[in-house]
Formats: sequence, C-alpha cells, structure tokens
Amino acid sequence: MNVLRKVVGIKDLRDARAALPEPVGFVPTMGFLHEGHLSLVRRAREQSASVIVSIFVNPTQFAPTDDLDAYPRDLERDAALLQEAGADLLWTPTPEIMYPPNFQTWVDVDGLTQPLEGEKRPGHFRGVTTVVTKLFNAVQPQKAFFGQKDAQQAAVIRQMVRDLNMPIEILIQPIVRERDGLAMSSRNTYLNPAERQAALVLSKSLAAAQSAYKKGERNAETLRGMMEEIIKAEPLARLEYVSCADYDTLEELRELTGKSLLSMAVYIGRTRLIDNRVLG
Ligand code: AMP
Repeated sequence: MNVLRKVVGIKDLRDARAALPEPVGFVPTMGFLHEGHLSLVRRAREQSASVIVSIFVNPTQFAPTDDLDAYPRDLERDAALLQEAGADLLWTPTPEIMYPPNFQTWVDVDGLTQPLEGEKRPGHFRGVTTVVTKLFNAVQPQKAFFGQKDAQQAAVIRQMVRDLNMPIEILIQPIVRERDGLAMSSRNTYLNPAERQAALVLSKSLAAAQSAYKKGERNAETLRGMMEEIIKAEPLARLEYVSCADYDTLEELRELTGKSLLSMAVYIGRTRLIDNRVLG
C-alpha cells in the first residue's frame, strides 16, 4: 500500500512531484472530503501512475460576505481518506504561499463566466481560474479531475486550458449523491436536520424536469417553471436562480434541441447549495 506524503511549500511539492512516476493525475479540492472528492481521486488512481491532491480553501473565490472563515476543515481526516483512496501526495499550501504580498496577476475567462454562478457571485470565477492556474503550474499534471457538481466551473476550466494551451487533459466526473438524491457537498454539514430534509428540493426539482423532458417536454420556460414551483413550495428554501441552458455556451434556451444543462442555486436557510443535471 502506498504511503501518502504531505507537503506544504511549493519547492517541497516540486521535489516530491519530480520523484513520482508519470503521468501525474491531479485533483484540486478545498478539503473536508466526501465521496464526491474521493470518486475523483479513485478515477485519477485508475488513469494515472501518480495521484496528487491539493487542499486549499482559496480566499480569492469567496466574496467578503461568503463563508470563507466558516468553511469546514479537517485535515487529519482528509489525509486518512486520501491514503485509503490511494493518493500519493497531498499538497496543502497556505494563503501566504499562494498569495504572497504584492500579488497582482489574475486569470480571467470571459464569456462562460458571465451567466449563472458568475452573475450571482461576481469575481468568483476569477479566483477559481487564477488559483487553478497556479495549482497547475506548481503541480504540472498531465491530467486533472473535476466534478460535474460544479458544471460551470468544469466548463470554464476546460475553456481556460484550451485558450491558454495548457498541456493538461481535463476529465469531468459525474455527481456523487447521497442515497436520497442530495448532491454531496462539504457545505451540507451546515444543514440542520430540517434543512437537510428541505435540501432535497434541489434534486427533486431536477428529477421532475428531467422526467418531463423524457416525456417530450422541450420548452425551456416550462421546465424552469416546474423547478421553480417545487422549490418555492419548500418554506426553508430560497431560490437564487434556475436555469435551462445550452450545455456548451451556457446561454439560456427557449427550446431544448441538443445537449442542455439544468442548473440551480438555492439557499436552504443560510446555506447556498447548487445542483444540476444534463439532458440530451
Ligand atoms: P471543492 O472541494 O468543493 O472545491 O470540490 C473539489 C472538486 O470536487 C471539484 O472538482 C468539485 O466539482 C468536485 N466535487 C464536489 N462535490 C462533488 C460531488 N458530489 N460529486 C462529484 N464531484 C464533486
């Protein structure tokens, strides 16, 4: 069984990475790991000779009003889970390492970051693309694994890698859900029992829209309306957006003709949850 090595500094990361067999598969995370993250690590294990995981709660992708300080952390437990899942190297840089004084370079993807999460969380994707570029530059993986849970993030990263000619294959893994359908998320730990139950409206409304689609419904407004109605019927839920968009461009649709993305952000109490489903 391989032993998980842990590093913090970039020089230590580079030295450890240089000793690992290639191809290197990389899984960037913010920690407090669950089965969703571990599915990416296992897939990386299958598809690469070495697996590097980073845990970094990236301050630049949080707005001042977001949950940066409250974001759950448990490094010891995460390391044990990663060891079990077969990762070789865990990199846990500090904010000071990633953003030293006088940091002033940003990576910005244009069009794809405008709607949906980008509209509701200004600056979020700039933080994501900047940190992922820095992580990629340090780790220099051949493959990187992301979750479909963050569908827009996956699309933005793909675009960035293409636009900037990064020699990295991006692999997107399906959403891992709890038995009752709730998409796994580190933020689910914020939910009290009543909220945990209420949080099912996300997956339920997506399932209802998918079922209507399967029966032949192709009007996007009808599908958005169905999802909205189910979410609004839940007293603990506050809808931020529902979307029925083109899978590639993320532009809102009138009719569903090709591959489409149903997605939403919903506050359950004070916890902001996202979920999505691909149609067609
Ligand atoms: P995070 O720690 O939330 O930044 O997530 C790290 C990676 O895990 C991202 O690529 C996420 O899309 C992915 N991920 C998070 N939750 C899930 C899930 N339920 N299923 C699949 N992938 C996930």
